[in-house]
Amino acid sequence: MKEISAVDFGKEVLQSGKVVVDFYSTECAPCEALAPKFETLAELYGHKINFVKIFRQENRELANALGVSSSPTLLFFDNGKQVLDTISGGIKKSEIMNRLDSMLNSEEVNEIKINQKPTFSEYDVAILGGGPAGLTAGIYLGQAKLKTVLIDPALTGGYMGITHQVSNYPGYEKPQPGFMLAHYMSEQAKQTGIDFKIAVDISAVDLLKKEIVIDSLETIKAKKIIIATGTTPNTMNAPGEKEFKGKGISYCATCDAKYFANKDVIVIGGGNSAVEEALFITKFAKKVTMIHQFDKLTANQTAIEQLKANEKIEVLYEHEPREFEKRNGKMITLVENLKTKERFELMTDGIFVFIGFTSNIAVLGRTVPALDKWGYIITDEDRKTNIPDVFAIGDIISKKYRQITTAVADGTIAAITISKEII
Ligand SMILES: Cc1cc2nc3c(=O)[nH]c(=O)nc-3n(C[C@H](O)[C@H](O)[C@H](O)COP(=O)(O)OP(=O)(O)OC[C@H]3O[C@@H](n4cnc5c(N)ncnc54)[C@H](O)[C@@H]3O)c2cc1C
Repeated sequence: MKEISAVDFGKEVLQSGKVVVDFYSTECAPCEALAPKFETLAELYGHKINFVKIFRQENRELANALGVSSSPTLLFFDNGKQVLDTISGGIKKSEIMNRLDSMLNSEEVNEIKINQKPTFSEYDVAILGGGPAGLTAGIYLGQAKLKTVLIDPALTGGYMGITHQVSNYPGYEKPQPGFMLAHYMSEQAKQTGIDFKIAVDISAVDLLKKEIVIDSLETIKAKKIIIATGTTPNTMNAPGEKEFKGKGISYCATCDAKYFANKDVIVIGGGNSAVEEALFITKFAKKVTMIHQFDKLTANQTAIEQLKANEKIEVLYEHEPREFEKRNGKMITLVENLKTKERFELMTDGIFVFIGFTSNIAVLGRTVPALDKWGYIITDEDRKTNIPDVFAIGDIISKKYRQITTAVADGTIAAITISKEII
């Protein structure tokens, strides 16, 4: 592997057969996550493909000329020509390997695969998930000098990292951008000396053997496993939903309702969370239009009565949103009356979607801890599951309130419990 500057680009990349180039920056978490993977792959593929690193901040002109606008970005060259798609951000090892393999013939690929050696490492604790819950557990375990690894298929931070402004996390006078909180928590966890394995593929998890396989070949065995993999909000899969997520469509009233003071919003859903969140939103909004697919709300009776008594809320029963758009700064929702099939547009300032979350348990494989009827992991007060030495924390557990503060509390409790059990 070579570190080069723009001056050597012609010789080292354009006149040099097969080359993969990593444009990296400093103070860049995904670049740090990529560096060890790039190094390992350079050892494996280095005799067939040249591995080159370029420091983007000092070679901006070249980066711009190549269309590199974020770090890290990997570019692939074959005989002076750029080939394959570039990849940026939280880059997985498998994504790079797929591209490298496609630059070689099958014999060359087989020869490389034979040389891939499985690795095995042992830890006191393995944490699955690097959101606020997992990071907090990491901070406590690292400070307790327990050998800990934190594993995440994405970058650390979880939902916190993608929340525009967090105004209810104690210790900050002003609302903080979520990515900054995520950055501080990740750095704090790293400084305790725990290992980070991020942007990896989780190939297998065996909670009974306490083994996790990442990137197919790396087996991690731990005395204790903490599950902190959070949830995924259910989506309607309606056109425009993905595009306006966080830009007009929100999945969290606690976080975003305050930005809709004296505005009109839509709430989609009709269960407990939709009704409770709609009531909460009326503290700020001028009007809330609920869109619910059934002819009755499915929330508890007390919440329904509160809702009926609230003059700011109107419910459109037996309606469903079909499409979202933004026009002149307003959100446009195309709504369908399920009985008459008539479609019409509603123009509001924002949209809240509460059609439930799904707990991220799929990765846990065949042996899953006991779950409540909604699919969340049941834990005791120490955040132990029913599987010995397996803990669960954060949004994935069965509990009433899912916030950053409650996630960090769970992480604290599990980590202190563990640090008293492993001496
Ligand atoms: C849009 C939105 C805005 C919010 N705003 C606020 C707010 O302003 N204030 C507040 O207090 N709360 C807010 N919340 C709630 C808060 O973000 C969550 O309660 C909190 O992030 C939960 O932390 P967690 O660590 O349990 O899970 P998450 O934050 O969901 O993190 C889970 C982590 O696990 C990783 N993961 C997923 N699958 C796997 C796997 N198979 N293996 C390993 N890792 C995996 C994910 O990549 C992620 O990094 C918001 C939630 C949403 C959805």
